Formats: sequence, C-alpha cells, structure tokens
Amino acid sequence: MNLSSIAIAAFLSSLSSATADTVLGERSTSEDRGIAALKLRGAQEKTAAGSGIEKGRQLKKKQKDACGPETENSCVATTNVRSPSTLVSCLNGTSSFMDTPVTIIEYPDPKGTDNPFYVNKTVSKLTFPQVDFDDFLEANFNAGLGGPRFPAGIFYAEGQEEVIMAVNCARAAGYKVSPRGRGHSYQGLSSMDGYLVIDLSLMCVPDNFTPTTQNEDHPWLLGGEQKVIGTIKSGSGCTNAVMLAYTAEHFPDDGIYLVGSCPSVGITGYATGGGQGDTTPWVGLGVDDVLSYDIVLYDGTNVTASEKEHSDLYWALRGGGSGFGVITSLTTAVVNAPKPLESSSSSSSRFTYVAQLYKQTQNEAKKFLERFQDFLVPNLPFDSKKYKDKIRNSSARFGGDGQFSTKENEYLAFTGIFLGSKDEAISTFEKAGLRDPDIFKESESVEFEFSSHADVQLFKICYQLGQSPSPSFWQSEWTSASYNVCEDLGIDPDEYCHTKFFYGSITTPVLLPNCDYNQVSFNLEDVKNVILPAIKAAAIKPQSWFNRPGSQKWAPGIPQTVWSLPGGLLVGRLDPDVLLDLANVGVEITHFAHGAPTVVARDETGYSNREEFILLSFAGGGEMEKYEEVASILINKAYGGDSSKLRGYINYVNPVGTTGGDWRTYYFGDNYERLSEIKAEYDVTNGFGNPVQVEPALSKKAKSGK
Ligand SMILES: Cc1cc2nc3c(=O)[nH]c(=O)nc-3n(C[C@H](O)[C@H](O)[C@H](O)COP(=O)(O)OP(=O)(O)OC[C@H]3O[C@@H](n4cnc5c(N)ncnc54)[C@H](O)[C@@H]3O)c2cc1C
Repeated sequence: MNLSSIAIAAFLSSLSSATADTVLGERSTSEDRGIAALKLRGAQEKTAAGSGIEKGRQLKKKQKDACGPETENSCVATTNVRSPSTLVSCLNGTSSFMDTPVTIIEYPDPKGTDNPFYVNKTVSKLTFPQVDFDDFLEANFNAGLGGPRFPAGIFYAEGQEEVIMAVNCARAAGYKVSPRGRGHSYQGLSSMDGYLVIDLSLMCVPDNFTPTTQNEDHPWLLGGEQKVIGTIKSGSGCTNAVMLAYTAEHFPDDGIYLVGSCPSVGITGYATGGGQGDTTPWVGLGVDDVLSYDIVLYDGTNVTASEKEHSDLYWALRGGGSGFGVITSLTTAVVNAPKPLESSSSSSSRFTYVAQLYKQTQNEAKKFLERFQDFLVPNLPFDSKKYKDKIRNSSARFGGDGQFSTKENEYLAFTGIFLGSKDEAISTFEKAGLRDPDIFKESESVEFEFSSHADVQLFKICYQLGQSPSPSFWQSEWTSASYNVCEDLGIDPDEYCHTKFFYGSITTPVLLPNCDYNQVSFNLEDVKNVILPAIKAAAIKPQSWFNRPGSQKWAPGIPQTVWSLPGGLLVGRLDPDVLLDLANVGVEITHFAHGAPTVVARDETGYSNREEFILLSFAGGGEMEKYEEVASILINKAYGGDSSKLRGYINYVNPVGTTGGDWRTYYFGDNYERLSEIKAEYDVTNGFGNPVQVEPALSKKAKSGK
C-alpha cells in the first residue's frame, strides 16, 4: 500500500453523498473495479453486437414492469389518468417542441481529427419512447444508479416559463414529474419510472448568473474573520465543475463555493439533500449555503423560498431532499477562505492538497484514531465559543476522505484539502499529534500548494481521475472524455500527458494529463500554468464533455456494474475502542464533515444529521456484509441497543445484468414528521412523488450483534 494506491480508494470513497434523497458512500477496491470495468466492457461489446435489439428487449420489459406509457389509462401505481397524447399536444400547443433539437454534450471542435468521440450529441427537446426510441435512449440516463429506469418522457426545459408549462401539461395529462439536474441520484429519483422528467441542465447558463459581493456574518459560520463575501444566483441544472470555474472567475482570491468530488454531479442535489465536500468543515453543508430557491410547485405556481418568504418550504428544502417542486434557480453563498496565519510568509489565502498515509499496529492505530477524532471534533459542546475557537484555525480548515481500515493492510490514510499554506497544514497536523513519530513512522505524505480553491479542488479531481486502474474515470465514468484527454483539453499531448493502458486484453492507450505526482513527467508548474487553466475552460461550459458523466452512464440499455451501488453510515463522536472496532471492519471514510455543520442545530434545517461528522461508506456485493457489521457495532457498542439511532443510507441493487433490480433506501432522521407535513402542504397531490423517508431494515444479526 502506498500513497498512490490509497488515492485510488480515496477517490472511490469520495464519490458519495450525504444527501437526504440519495445514498451515502461508494467504494470498491482497485482490483474490483478493474475486473468490473473489464466485465462491463465485455457486456458493452456484447450488447453493442446485439445492437438495439437487446436494449430494446430490456427496456420494453422495464417499461411494462414500471407501469410505463404502454399501460396508458390503466396504471394505478403512479396515477390512473395518464395520457401521452394529451401531454404531447399540450406541450406542442405553443410551439413545435418535439422537433427542436437541443445539444446535450459538446465536444471540442474536431478540426481534422477522426476521433469518434468528437461528435456533439443532440436530442429532441421532448423525447418519448413511442416517438423516437433512440433519441429517448440518449436522453434517458442515470449516472448514479445500478440499473436503467424508464420514465414516460423527457423534456429539456430552457427557462422558468417552460418549466411552468411542462408542469401544467404533466398535471393536465395525469403525469407525475421528476425534476432532473445532472442525474446522479443513486436511486434514480430524477427519472422515476412512468413520470415526466423535466431536465434542468440547459438552464445552467453562466452568462445569466448574478454574482453579488457582500461581507456578512451568518449563523452557520464559525465567526471571527469568516464571512459570506458574496452570492451567486444560478440556474438549477449546474454541475460542481461549472460552479468551481465560475467562482474562480468572480471571486478569484479567496472565494469558496461548496462542491463535492465529481465534476459532473449536479448542485441542486447538494442544495436540497445535504451536500458534503472537502470544504464543508469551513463553509458548511450544501444546504447551509443556499439563501433562496425559486421553485415551481405542482399546481404551476412559482414561489421563492427563503428565510423571509415561504420559510417552512425553505426549511424543508434545506435537507429534506427532492419532492417539493421543480427548483429553477438558487442563490448560494460564497464564503471566504481563511487569511494566512501571522507566522505565514504569504500575504494571500493559500490552498493545499494533502495526502497522508499511516502504517500502524493496532495500538498505534487506536492512538491515531483517538487523536484524529479529537482533532476533527474536540470534546466540547458544539455551540460553545471554546469549540468554535478551537477548530477555527485547525480542523475546520481541513476536509477530505480516507481509509479507515486496520484489518488487512494495517493502514489508515486521508486525502483532502487544507485551507492554508503547506507550512500551515504541516504545523496544524503536527500540533494535533498527527505527525508524531510515534504514530507516523514509516508513513508517507505529500503536500502541494495552490492559490485558489478551484485550483486545489480541480487538481484533486484531475489526480484522482487518473488513479483508476483503467483510465475509465476520465474516459467513461465521471466525465465524457475521449481516449486523448489532452486533446479534449486543447493541450499538447506530448508535453503534458502520460499514457495509460486499459487492463487485460484491451490495450487501448489513453492519454491523461500529468496530474499524477507518482509519474516522472509530473511537473507542478505545468499543472498550474497549463493543465488547470485548460480544465477550467472546459469546466465553465455546462454541456461540455467535462460536465457530463461518461459513456457508461449514458447507455441506459446496458447494465451497470455492481460497484456503483453505494451506501453509508454517518457516525459521530465515539469511544476509541469502538472506533478501532469499526476500523477493523475495513471500510472507507467518504467525508470528514465537521466544524461549521456541527454548530448548526439538528432542527434548524431539514437536514438532521448534524452531529454525525464522519461518513463510512459501502458499495454493493460483499460490502453489504460490512454494512451489517458496522451497523451491529454501532447499535450494540455505541447506541445501547437502539437501532433507531443509526443514521445513513443503504441502496442495494441486484448484481450486474438485472434491470431495475431490488433497491431499498433507508433514510433516518429526526425531521421526518415535519418534512412530511410540509411536503403534504406544498405537493398537495403528491405530483412529485419522491419518498421522504423509509424506515431502516436490518437483519436480526445486525440488530442483536450476534
Ligand atoms: C459519482 C458521484 C459522486 C458524488 N459525490 C458526492 C459528494 O462528493 N458529495 C455529496 O454531497 N454528494 C455526492 N454525490 C451525491 C449527489 O450529491 C447526489 O446524488 C445529488 O443528488 C446529485 O445531484 P444531480 O443533480 O446530479 O442528480 P439528479 O439525479 O438529477 O437529482 C437528484 C435529486 O434531486 C432532485 N432534483 C434535481 N434537480 C432538481 C430541481 N431543479 N428541482 C427539484 N428537484 C431536483 C431529483 O428529482 C432527485 O431526486 C455523488 C453522487 C455520484 C453519483
């Protein structure tokens, strides 16, 4: 185990969420993923050979099972009066929407290349399976789900008026509505079977955003120098990458906009479900940062939800997940990064990428876990001045993800972003006893300093995308890059790229940008001066290949691999022996969310999991056993036998090859009753249908601990 291999796992574990409507956590070993990637490729090739026939068969079955449009007027599972013809004529009433093509993925100008990836993808603005099946397949995708879903139709809205019209038409024709941002909901909640999907991605238009500057305290911040320095009003269908690049342009020195780890994930999921990223300990959860939402309700009215207007809806949207309406735009806070400490040589804010790997015995591991927990969340009342003062210049500046495993490899590790210089990062970890030779012997660390949040975050993304056992993170998963990522980025492949090969018999070389510090070709100055500017240029274009999930996610007829099936449990402060027991199970830590989110009380927003600041993540398959083991340890050793104290999400989808599968979601939280009341008030006819919460279901073994 070395720093580069832990980074693979770190990235895998970082692909997860603390959202109320999605599942937490995603993880697999690099080996699993390599095998899975090969299996997938085999499956893709076979399916492609069978062409549309196999896809068609699977989807037809799915359509039938899902109470889809074939069952017009007889489907009671969602609504019993559905009529595609009414919907089509209603949507076509004002203009010929069916025929208007919209571009859903843009590639760079081909300029003489014969690279097959450089084909911009367009679909009709409104697609129905009955009208143009291929068009519908392109438009129908689930970036986070283990199997395809089959909505009744997909409409790409290009403005608030069109959203209102689509909602009104859906209601009149008896359809429920599934708003879709960037389609990363693990359960596919943005493309519910038989619903009309209203896709918001084309409403992300950076030229139309409104940035403001200000200098204000906010209750969820830690106080002191920490301020909201501005806001961005943006369309709701934007991605992490767009917002990072936009913030870098408009708040270049010290602005931070909360984003997670994957460039193509949608921000509205964060803004309603929770939202954890590397800077959460400093800026808060995604839901903390939203100052107002513009939302279209199922009756077609458009309201603004903020502290002053529809404050109950505002409360619910901040953590209650989707199912209240279609959010068309949101205004989100930009928080300043810390100024340099007095001892620092720099005069402006700095941002450091940090990776630390600890090789340890059990005793050392226990010591490490104790210190690490004390560092993240000191044992003081969360709302006390002492607590805030203590973390303001230490752990609130650091967030990330890591490995929490002593079982097989005797290692513990974290990778993340420190808001400060390299020297500040090292001295902060030293002060916390985390570089003490006692527990840090034979260990490794790397630190790279950058001058903006966008740069450090995009470096982390670029590095981690390149750590996949195959180059598939770049190429077919979290972006839609080609086999020559440097050409996609418009940079010289000979100067700034290295080559990686797919595993096994498939030896296609893929050219990746030199963000991998384990390569001899790595040069930090090239990263800063050439690679990151090129990534930002791709990031700011909402429909660019960098903002779209890869081909794997765009093939709804093709079964996805089992490793994309996540789950996770959130844990709070624990006795060190319990922490060690958990580490012995061998799971991943997806996010360290502490600091600011903890100082907000559980009932202050719809997101109730505030005091749980570490997310332990699980994937599908064998990982489900680990879930039971972890659940059992928590219930029996930490929660006095009370399973209702468990917090988290598990989504289980049948292994590769099934369509739809058996999936379950558990969402536990204190705010369930109030959320349900508010949903009943605003979504009177349940036109958005999404579940707010499902009770936990655990095996007897997990409950009893036997
Ligand atoms: C690869 C990957 C990495 C991830 N990494 C992180 C991470 O680092 N941190 C983190 O917190 N989460 C992470 N997540 C989880 C992610 O935050 C959620 O899945 C989020 O909901 C995705 O938003 P989306 O717009 O892409 O998804 P969608 O599937 O489009 O939407 C998610 C939910 O929000 C609803 N919704 C979307 N747009 C609107 C709208 N305009 N109005 C009303 N409802 C809407 C949908 O109906 C659906 O219920 C990750 C997920 C994946 C697949």
